[in-house]
Amino acid sequence: MDRIIKLKPVFQERIWGGTNLNSYFGYELPSENTGECWAISAHKNGDCEIVNTEYKGKTLSWLYKNHRELFGNISNDEFPLLVKLIDAKDNLSIQVHPDDNYAKDIEGEAFGKTEAWYIVDCNEDTLLEIGHNGETKEQVKKMIEDGKWDELLNYIPIKKGDFFFIPSGTVHAICKNTLIYEIQQSSDITYRLYDYNRVDSKTGKERELHTKKSIDVIKVPQKIDETIKPKMEVINNSKVTIYADTEYFKTIKYDIDGSFEIMNKAPFMLCTILDGEATINEEKFLKGDNFIVPTQLKEIKIFGKITIIVSTL
Ligand code: ZN
Repeated sequence: MDRIIKLKPVFQERIWGGTNLNSYFGYELPSENTGECWAISAHKNGDCEIVNTEYKGKTLSWLYKNHRELFGNISNDEFPLLVKLIDAKDNLSIQVHPDDNYAKDIEGEAFGKTEAWYIVDCNEDTLLEIGHNGETKEQVKKMIEDGKWDELLNYIPIKKGDFFFIPSGTVHAICKNTLIYEIQQSSDITYRLYDYNRVDSKTGKERELHTKKSIDVIKVPQKIDETIKPKMEVINNSKVTIYADTEYFKTIKYDIDGSFEIMNKAPFMLCTILDGEATINEEKFLKGDNFIVPTQLKEIKIFGKITIIVSTL
């Protein structure tokens, strides 16, 4: 099959979520507290449905299982990546994710969670929590046990267009007034370290913390002060920005004005249109559309004015 595969997102309600996924991307949301759009996902907690081609109505996990040839016949038992759009109206909990080994041994899951964020939009005074100020594991443990969050946590100011790489074991939190594109390993394991003692209005209780597992997986030291410096080039009026080239995923943003061809050299490409509209291989695409380019489709021909972000293995 050599067609673009379009997907229907799965939305997730979160206590910190809002309505920006509607106001920015135009999605119809299930709730006023929609935190996450699982835009390209085959994870069991939010498996996207295919909306075109002969596979219309099937899920991405089904397609991956039954037509591995569309994904370059890669050997992973489960689809390895997950693309999300996240609207933080309020602060997310301070959290950390395990690596592959810990996820397999302790949780019986296929993948740990290394992730990366492109800041789609944020307020002028928005912060991000990334890394920590502890110098040894003992010191980190003590600060957690004593609740010395101001000393432990490391906040930095962010702006639209910044990109952050969050390897497993990194303490992090998206803070309020941030809209994010996230590429991550296909995992839903989050260890909540601190939730500001906030009470979930639905349950009347604080959400569960995972202090021991958090301390297990936190890497030390972890001083992180700035955004990734991407590689950029301008080709035919269009800007190509390479943000991530890691063992887990590669992420490139294309700001296209006019016509442009993206060559597909990966097993598959995961594409999200962040802005504008365009014709891609003679079909119309809009801001908020998400699709997969299968192995067999070796290039996509774009004509229009769009910002498209592409992640691959
Ligand atoms: Zn995370």
